[in-house]
Amino acid sequence: MNPIKDRVIVFDVGGTKTTYGTVENAVISNFKKVNSDIINKKGVDFFTEIIDNTEGGISGIIIGVPAVVDNNGKILSAPNLKSIERHNLKDLLKEKYSVPVFITRDVNLQLFGEYSTFYKDDYSNALGIFIGTGLGASVIINKKIFTGINGAAVEIGHVKYPAGNNIKCNCGKTDCIELYSSGMALDRYIKNYKEETGKDITKEFFFSCDDKDLDKYKKLFFDSLVFSVSTLVNLFDPGLVIIGGGVINADKFPFDKLVDLIKSDLRKPLPLENTDFRLSQLNYESNIIGGYYFFKSINL
Ligand SMILES: [Zn+2]
Repeated sequence: MNPIKDRVIVFDVGGTKTTYGTVENAVISNFKKVNSDIINKKGVDFFTEIIDNTEGGISGIIIGVPAVVDNNGKILSAPNLKSIERHNLKDLLKEKYSVPVFITRDVNLQLFGEYSTFYKDDYSNALGIFIGTGLGASVIINKKIFTGINGAAVEIGHVKYPAGNNIKCNCGKTDCIELYSSGMALDRYIKNYKEETGKDITKEFFFSCDDKDLDKYKKLFFDSLVFSVSTLVNLFDPGLVIIGGGVINADKFPFDKLVDLIKSDLRKPLPLENTDFRLSQLNYESNIIGGYYFFKSINL
């Protein structure tokens, strides 16, 4: 048996932080976390330098990106990470290293890591909603990630929010939902709040701060998020909904309130009565494990 058959390198590229590590038999080693700015500086060289320095050989490369990736591995649109847009990372890495290369949306790694670790024996379908720098979603149907024909399925963050305020998105459209419910949205709300009131708060206190001047921003955040999640649950009837990401996993986020609001917008009696909502338990390292399982699920 080839000793490196089960050894892969996984990159999880986020809008703010990027992590990577080698995974063998579902165990991670050499885990690193860096600021994503380094990718904007180095571009493709960021990946090749790390792979070149990985000792012991690898049998596959998996990269999760906050972007739309076509089925040929070309990164079509990365509104929050422009330096890797339009590159065909897959062809480039495949040619250089002669191993299978999978490039997919970062949220697919997040959902698959969580699902494979905790839920795969009890559920065949799942919806993942992740609120970090942007807003991303992913769907598992019959134990596999549903990528769509073009790798662009379930891109809820760039669906138009009907009650928006005519704000332009980095993707070129206006009023994409992630402009209203994401880490980027919180930054804008806090900036506007400071301009209006002179008061300064950090993102960590946005949800716990009791100032009524913040209420309109909290309402925009929750209304748009509830609109997106309840729409996806009504469409897919997944049975299991995992919600996570930096904003949601922060200490003071009112997760129970969010779930109640989503439930009040679900179709009754189903899917409402048969949908479980879970807070994401995983962390950066587990997304890397998710990449490993994703690789194995495609490679079977
Ligand atoms: Zn957009």
